[in-house]
Amino acid sequence: ITQEPPASHGVASHCPYCALQCAMTLTPNSDASEPVTVTGREFPTNRGGLCRKGSSAAKVLGLGDRITQPMIRTAHGLEPTTWDHALTAITEAIRGTQREHGRDAVGIFGAGGLTNEKAYALGKFARAVLRTSRIDYNGRFCMSSAAAAGNRAFGLDRGLPFPLTDLDRAHAVLLIGSNVADTMPPFVQHLASAREHGGLFVIDLRESATADLTRSEERECGIHLAPTPGTDQELLLGLIHVVIAEGLYDAAYVASRTNGFARLKRTAQRYWPEHVQSLTGVPAAKIRAVARGLATAKDRGAFVLTGRGVEQHTNGSDTTSLAINLALLLGLPGREPGGYGTVTGQGNGQGGREHGQKCDQLPGYRSINDPQARAHVASVWGIDEQDIPGPGIDATQLLLSCGTDHGVRTLMIHGSNPVVSAPNATRVTRALADLDFLVVSDFVLSETAQLAHVILPVAQWAEEEGTMTNLEGRVIRRRRALPLPGAARDELAVLAELSTRLGSTMFFGTAEQMFEELTRASAGGRADYSGLSYDLLDQERACYWPYPAGSAGTPRLFRDSFPTADGRATLADVSPRAIAERIFDGAELTLITGRLLGHYQSGAQTRRVPELLASDPDGRVEINPETAHLYGVVEGQLLTLHNERGTVQARARLSRQIRRDTLFMPFHFAGSNSVNRLVSSATDPLSKMPEFKATRVWVSQEEQC
Ligand code: SF4
Repeated sequence: ITQEPPASHGVASHCPYCALQCAMTLTPNSDASEPVTVTGREFPTNRGGLCRKGSSAAKVLGLGDRITQPMIRTAHGLEPTTWDHALTAITEAIRGTQREHGRDAVGIFGAGGLTNEKAYALGKFARAVLRTSRIDYNGRFCMSSAAAAGNRAFGLDRGLPFPLTDLDRAHAVLLIGSNVADTMPPFVQHLASAREHGGLFVIDLRESATADLTRSEERECGIHLAPTPGTDQELLLGLIHVVIAEGLYDAAYVASRTNGFARLKRTAQRYWPEHVQSLTGVPAAKIRAVARGLATAKDRGAFVLTGRGVEQHTNGSDTTSLAINLALLLGLPGREPGGYGTVTGQGNGQGGREHGQKCDQLPGYRSINDPQARAHVASVWGIDEQDIPGPGIDATQLLLSCGTDHGVRTLMIHGSNPVVSAPNATRVTRALADLDFLVVSDFVLSETAQLAHVILPVAQWAEEEGTMTNLEGRVIRRRRALPLPGAARDELAVLAELSTRLGSTMFFGTAEQMFEELTRASAGGRADYSGLSYDLLDQERACYWPYPAGSAGTPRLFRDSFPTADGRATLADVSPRAIAERIFDGAELTLITGRLLGHYQSGAQTRRVPELLASDPDGRVEINPETAHLYGVVEGQLLTLHNERGTVQARARLSRQIRRDTLFMPFHFAGSNSVNRLVSSATDPLSKMPEFKATRVWVSQEEQC
């Protein structure tokens, strides 16, 4: 598998936004408001295509309100300052906090959009310089349930364990809770083969743009299943039931490559299609048709893919395990073409969790409790393994601990805007406001940066060198096309100087030097990068991890065995467990959250791009016309949604894409439009994923603020 060589004119790089990491060419120009011209570049995942976010990404580089000077809070608010003053204040705050409250009173909150080098450097800075266990990142809110389920089944978690282009040979694809048509439009071209064969199956309780792809004017392209909120597990057990009861599973594969079939069979027996119809509202005939469609395609190319729609629940790990069980029964993992995968969301959602930003992991995607891993990483860092702290606490708990007696008192946030993106956002905002000291590294005055004591202006994507790992586990190069504006600095340089000021002799070098160190630290781990280098990546070879030294990488995983103790995958024994906020009362509705085509994550970047803001200016409430009629709501009316955690307001948009028992709000908006104010802090026990996709709310029409 090869990629096109870098463009001869301009700089070959990739989009700053989602995990598809579409390839683009950046050509510098003299327009200060849009200092590079972005053009789509031929690459296997996007084939030259870009969505409207990627096409307009250069506008974020030239923002009029770009922060290019450090800021410090004074009696008059945030004011420009020098780097020396800002770093001195941070150093004193860290020292003072740790002296008074202990090492764990200083925390780091990272992000799934940071380069691999920065993710690695943050983990090293936390464990080896600050010696704190309090580090986690916003990927906890994104990919953690799929990661937990993947590790439980396969002993390894890589978003897609096969190249995305394998989907081009699919006869059937089951997409569960993933609206790629809106979130990563160039992905849709890889569904063409499944649609041609009538095999695109979509589970989504909305009539999403992706669900629409199951229909066309000429013919049926597939089937859309829209279960009652909170019944994904019952629906998946219904599909599993049909596959087993009708003898459609791959008996030889199940016998030779999996454990746990007898238990799963016993559990699935109770979920015959008519019973599942009564639980989920999905017609039994459709359940049978999807199960049979997948099974018929299993020898020619069938895929099961999950997304945040099913993963972001307090039972998300178990639901994802059921999706994996279905794929394993059909013998898909390791088959070419075929398999199970999760469609990652953030730009470096995959790499972000491999290099030590997670509270329980060290570089190489290894457990922080593993003595061998600790010894290996300690030797790379040149410290005693006893000096590496133990596991910390997950992102939700870390944020909620802020400002409390035994919690984090000084926090450094990199590449994240939790005031908008965290669950129970009002409580998180209060906690951040209670901190003794908050440092935010960003390039715009995000809602979180507005709370900071110090803001550090840092490089954006087109101004830095680094690597990202896309949704396929393919490591790619991010390249610098522009100089840093004003006094902005690269985060790696900032961490290096802070380390020195804190008295550490720990080495933090250039991006390439950090990558070289990262590859050594990852050696022997699950995400082994030890055979990779910038030289190799700059040849534009397709480099999939694991890529141990001396190997050629691993485009397809699980061909002959799974990286488990006995080489077999585990069919997880999962019985349905209710989500935290299932509704039973007719006065309540389930609020689901998600993305819009024109925005990304908390919207801190995309809300600043005029054409993106014009297409989606605010956080509307999508409501079914019949529900609207029941509540006396008309199009455009201001609605108030509330529950025990807070209140949000937004204009009603009547839509038949929404079930009568649900509402939909996008999560890209701030202030009274900020839907995460309503979302609970309850998390999945295994993955610690919050429940972003099902929140109990009440609706009223009072025009209050
Ligand atoms: Fe960027 Fe994702 Fe759009 Fe591609 S699909 S251009 S990576 S936002």
